[in-house]
Amino acid sequence: MFEKILIANRGEIAVRIFATCKRMGILTVAVYSEPDFRSLHVTTADEAVSLGGARPAESYLNMDKIIRAALDTGCQAIHPGYGFLSENAQFAEKVALAGLTFIGPPASVIAAMGDKIAAKQLAVEAGVPTVPGHFQPVFTLEEAEVAAKEIGCPVLLKPAAGGGGKGMRVVDKPKDLASALTLCQQEARKSFGDDRIFIERYIKRPRHVEIQILADHHGNVVHLGERECSIQRRYQKIIEESPSCALNPDLREKMGALACSLARKAGYSNAGTVEFIVDENREFFFLEMNTRLQVEHPVTEMVNGLDLVELQLRISDGEELPIAQKDVSLSGWSMEVRICAENPDQGFVPSVGLITRYAAPKGIHVRVDSGVAAGSSVSVYYDPMLAKIITWGEDREQARKRMVQAVNGYHIEGVFTNVDFANQVLTHPVFIQGDLSTDFIPVYLLDESKKLSPPLEVLHAMATTTTLIYHLRENLVQNSLLPLKSRVGASRPQKSHYDYITKSVGDVFHIRLQRDGSDQKWQVTVDDATYHVVTPLLEYYRRRLKLSINGEKFFFRLKYLGNFIIAAFCGVTRTFEIYNPREWKLARFMPVPSQSERENTLECPMPGLVVDVKVSEGERVFRGQELVILESMKMESAVASPGDAVIEAVLVKPGDAVESGMELIRFKAS
Ligand code: ADP
Ligand code: ADP
Ligand code: MG
Repeated sequence: MFEKILIANRGEIAVRIFATCKRMGILTVAVYSEPDFRSLHVTTADEAVSLGGARPAESYLNMDKIIRAALDTGCQAIHPGYGFLSENAQFAEKVALAGLTFIGPPASVIAAMGDKIAAKQLAVEAGVPTVPGHFQPVFTLEEAEVAAKEIGCPVLLKPAAGGGGKGMRVVDKPKDLASALTLCQQEARKSFGDDRIFIERYIKRPRHVEIQILADHHGNVVHLGERECSIQRRYQKIIEESPSCALNPDLREKMGALACSLARKAGYSNAGTVEFIVDENREFFFLEMNTRLQVEHPVTEMVNGLDLVELQLRISDGEELPIAQKDVSLSGWSMEVRICAENPDQGFVPSVGLITRYAAPKGIHVRVDSGVAAGSSVSVYYDPMLAKIITWGEDREQARKRMVQAVNGYHIEGVFTNVDFANQVLTHPVFIQGDLSTDFIPVYLLDESKKLSPPLEVLHAMATTTTLIYHLRENLVQNSLLPLKSRVGASRPQKSHYDYITKSVGDVFHIRLQRDGSDQKWQVTVDDATYHVVTPLLEYYRRRLKLSINGEKFFFRLKYLGNFIIAAFCGVTRTFEIYNPREWKLARFMPVPSQSERENTLECPMPGLVVDVKVSEGERVFRGQELVILESMKMESAVASPGDAVIEAVLVKPGDAVESGMELIRFKAS
């Protein structure tokens, strides 16, 4: 076996490959670009070589620099990961010429499969059904019109050299063909340096189902079942699972066998994936073959109990596959969510910045493959994918529930992420039923008219949690003030119950908290429903709270802003305002904000230490804006502006100890 290998990649996949190498006793060499100088993959490898430069062309795509680094550090092989050079036939060739092993298929196979038109022709020869279409490149509008007419609209225009969903355009009506062709060609030229376009039928509401195959150098080919990757945005996968609800054992065997014959026909070796599209009648068509390890390979590992990177290494080293097709059996169900730095509210635009806080979920059958940690910077140069969560369960529902919990507990600050968006998918009734298709996101989550309001039990759980945490915190604050009070005998009697009115958007909940025998057990009544809640207070770390409701454990992400608590749970993000009934009466006639506005001051809501003052004199601020950050009870909380105003004076500075009721900021009289 290899003693030392270089991984020509970054982020989570580099870290994931190191893990297998470490277990197998293989030394690892990382390569990195300038902005990646202190990223996780650099610190995790045994050795790291700087490639310099920020742009991929100067670093992760620079074949000569990478091969030089491998030779200089005494490596015997290069693993390309996915993306970057993983499907570059020239690179595979150069690696071999340098006397190193390329961990992947032969260069000739990469070249054949990298061209979608050539790959389709090969599929036809192997007897694999392909999407009906015109498998000659089209260059002019006239050619495109002939092809589109022959296929019938809607059609899909695709770059022959494509990948990552780039350049693809759907054309519903012949009159839109001209502009779609121009755009597709432009993008193809820009992204792939190759503007050959082909046209095929656009399959409506399809599922994306792909087969993982493995082939060794001794003529053995096996498939490891399928992955369904229908949950996509912009033709890019974000949630994947194995097996797929759309397949039964017969169909699996059929598609698996065809994938294997294509691999044989192509002279394939190593790990590869044959992608299919499945229509509403469960007819399936070949899309393309990816000649590398896929992002979503972990779901296959979970249901097969195999390590695909280990198998890649063994195949490259000339070993025979340790399993035959009859040994392959899928056990249970696995799901994966890709965590990306992007803003789902703004068309999923990538988000860049520094990750200031980071806490990943843990738990049994929860695997997190991450390329980042607190302090990592997310730059404009690379893919926005930060990490993946993978869960396993005995059945789909168990895997899904574990995933929802894990996503609830994933705390990332500093960049926007799709964490809560992912949970909207995972908790959607249509997803729960397994009724997937590639247009799931636009149809169910982006179309405002089809958006569902959150289920009552989710809102109740959130109202219960925010009210309880508010109560416990207020109580701690009050009790901590007791010794300060000079009056003898000032003690607060324990009441049998506490009432609150908790408001969120248009919903108002009447909540009663009653101790249930111990300090950590509560009986909570929300309107007419009763819940038994256990709160291990010490588990409120890094803005995540863990508690159990009616015997089930839940994670909530919370942010404290005085009377307001922002909570994220099961894809719902909402602000809760908590009042006791006396305050509520006031609040209804004279909302709390205007009360302070009248006095033109911002009062300190609790005793603590000023950590940061985020505004200065003369600045204009808006309602809800964070003005002062306080630390108390090991937690940081922000004091927000009660209204839109201009700052007249800032009366505290970082390091000041403050008491509740103290004046922090004075606003200009309006
Ligand atoms: P890429 O190389 O970008 O992965 P693919 O050919 O694999 O390109 O297609 C990516 C995605 O685009 C698929 O998963 C599917 O959602 C969609 N797609 C591709 N071809 C079709 C088609 N003929 N009809 C409908 N959707 C398609
Ligand atoms: P810390 O790492 O400082 O102990 P965390 O905020 O990471 O605190 O989490 C608190 C506890 O909850 C830890 O013991 C962690 O293992 C556990 N935990 C956090 N999130 C999840 C989750 N989504 N699923 C299971 N366990 C979790
Ligand atoms: Mg694809």
